[in-house]
Amino acid sequence: MRELSRHQELFSLNTATVRMQAPLDRIIEACAARGIGLIDPWRDQVQAVGLDKIGRQLRDAGIKLSGYCRGGFFTAADQAGLAAALEDNRRAIDEAVTLGAPCLVLVVGALPGALTGPPKSKDIGIARSQVRDGIAASLDYARTVGMPLAIEPLHPMQAAERACVNTLEQALDLCDALDPGRSGALGVALDAYHVWWDPKLSGQIERAGADRLLAYHVCDWLVPTKDLVNDRGMMGDGVIELRKLRGMVEAAGYKGAVEVELFSDAWWSQPMDDVLDTCMSRFKTVA
Ligand code: ZN
Repeated sequence: MRELSRHQELFSLNTATVRMQAPLDRIIEACAARGIGLIDPWRDQVQAVGLDKIGRQLRDAGIKLSGYCRGGFFTAADQAGLAAALEDNRRAIDEAVTLGAPCLVLVVGALPGALTGPPKSKDIGIARSQVRDGIAASLDYARTVGMPLAIEPLHPMQAAERACVNTLEQALDLCDALDPGRSGALGVALDAYHVWWDPKLSGQIERAGADRLLAYHVCDWLVPTKDLVNDRGMMGDGVIELRKLRGMVEAAGYKGAVEVELFSDAWWSQPMDDVLDTCMSRFKTVA
């Protein structure tokens, strides 16, 4: 198992972690000042500053991506909505290529409309088949431009609003159905926060192997958790056995970055420098 205290180059910042404190260009400046060489930015953060400008800034600073957040949200109540989702995913794939990302992370979507209001359908079975079709269509395009897609299974508490793919097993079943040759074009983004509780986790990580494990995200599960989305804990402040989990991931052959990703009202209210320093020190000692 890799000793992270000696491998700062494996640290990646998911830039949502400090999204409330600063725009992306200032986040990148702060990363460069700390010698952080990897980030995973979100599309809205990139768009707010400008894709070309961010691309230039990253090149000048020598900072690379460990992923790009995010594509997905394939489900819709009608054909026009399904087509718009595919179009949007195509743009996300193109942006990921422009920024040189190693993969585009997919939060696949759930009951149509549920993220912003009453769902237009309660049929999670239809949602799941739309997700499968959406990934298949996007994969066809992604292959032509060489951008791997990483399905991120989300904790089942998100099954209505954000993602109806909720376990690693389910994500890997999709990978096997759509990319049976394990070509590297389709895999998973494994987020400790979403999967730590899963009784099948260790076997499924083994099943995933290096060619399906495209990204690894960490934070911690607080007890009690006060908010279903924005109360993620800093590594070490919760109940996830992060070292054990990373051991499984690395034993399966994963050699990529360890990406710190918090959505937290508590950490968003702290100064960006303090948050980044804490992320880096916990990465070295806890993750
Ligand atoms: Zn994640």
